[in-house]
Amino acid sequence: MIIQLDKNIQTVELEKVEKKLAEINYKATSVKTQYADYLIAVGKKEFDIRAIGTLPGVKDIHRVSDAYKLVSKKWRVEDTMIDLGDGLQIGTGNFAIMAGPCSIESEEQVEKTINHLAAQGVKIMRGGVYKPRSSPYSFRGLGIDGLKMWHERASAAGIKIITEVMMVEQIEDMLPYIDVFQVGARNSQNFNLLDALGKVDKPVLLKRGISGTIDELLQAAEYIFSNGNERIMLCERGIRSYEKAYRNTMDVNAIAILKEKTHLPVIADPSHGIGVRKYVDKIALASIMAGADGVIMEVHETPEKAFSDGQQTLSFPQADRLYKRMRQTFDLRENF
Ligand code: PEP
Ligand code: MN
Repeated sequence: MIIQLDKNIQTVELEKVEKKLAEINYKATSVKTQYADYLIAVGKKEFDIRAIGTLPGVKDIHRVSDAYKLVSKKWRVEDTMIDLGDGLQIGTGNFAIMAGPCSIESEEQVEKTINHLAAQGVKIMRGGVYKPRSSPYSFRGLGIDGLKMWHERASAAGIKIITEVMMVEQIEDMLPYIDVFQVGARNSQNFNLLDALGKVDKPVLLKRGISGTIDELLQAAEYIFSNGNERIMLCERGIRSYEKAYRNTMDVNAIAILKEKTHLPVIADPSHGIGVRKYVDKIALASIMAGADGVIMEVHETPEKAFSDGQQTLSFPQADRLYKRMRQTFDLRENF
């Protein structure tokens, strides 16, 4: 059960709500986000929610039986929009493209990518400076110095930055230089990291775990929300299956289902989703038709020379074609 409280609820009023919950054996957790105060009450007993809904200081009350609550659409029917500032919005009819290399490699690469994105009206650049790699001997990213260099150039061009954070300790250092924190598939259930990202007021793009279920993804998002941060996007990036013909199995089904289960924006990552360059465009378009609010994709001036994930990275001309088709497809879907 979600109880939304008045921001200025009196202590005596709050005590009355808590007393009522205790009477019916419901365990209450207080959640304070950048936008509102809530009590999340969990218990078994059936009762008339009006007994609490009519108490002074209570703004709204909803029964949500799912394990995840605040991210559920059963409670918040209207979709959430993520505002990145400067007129850039994600969700609720605003299609987002986030493109860039798998890894930030050099100043020259950043410069070329920014020019490519700016020419196509793409306003959000992706790239990793902390790279989770299967092998410890692979390139693991330029770190905070690379991020600072990237930020200087991106902000001068009016381009926002989304990049992966791997550890709680990195959050504070990264904070001034990023617009969206990305939680990678390998950290999708790193609950300490999710707790910590719940305490910052920057949007978080949370990827689905490599073998994560839809329910686990939603519960992971609930960690961020319940720690105080409502600005969350979910990302389908493919899951591990028995199929060996491609890198991952892009679960397009999950996009349609997530759009029904949650009010949070859903972003598709077709690059990791299939992991093979020549199919990325088709999977991107399929994801949009399934309901995605945006696409995050890997691009590079010379994909075959990329430090990581070159096999699934589009060249600039290939990406240009896809941006155009994605925008057309999004318009088509919106007018379906
Ligand atoms: C990435 O975005 O480059 C990445 C490592 O993604 P994922 O966490 O989905 O594997
Ligand atoms: Mn990658």
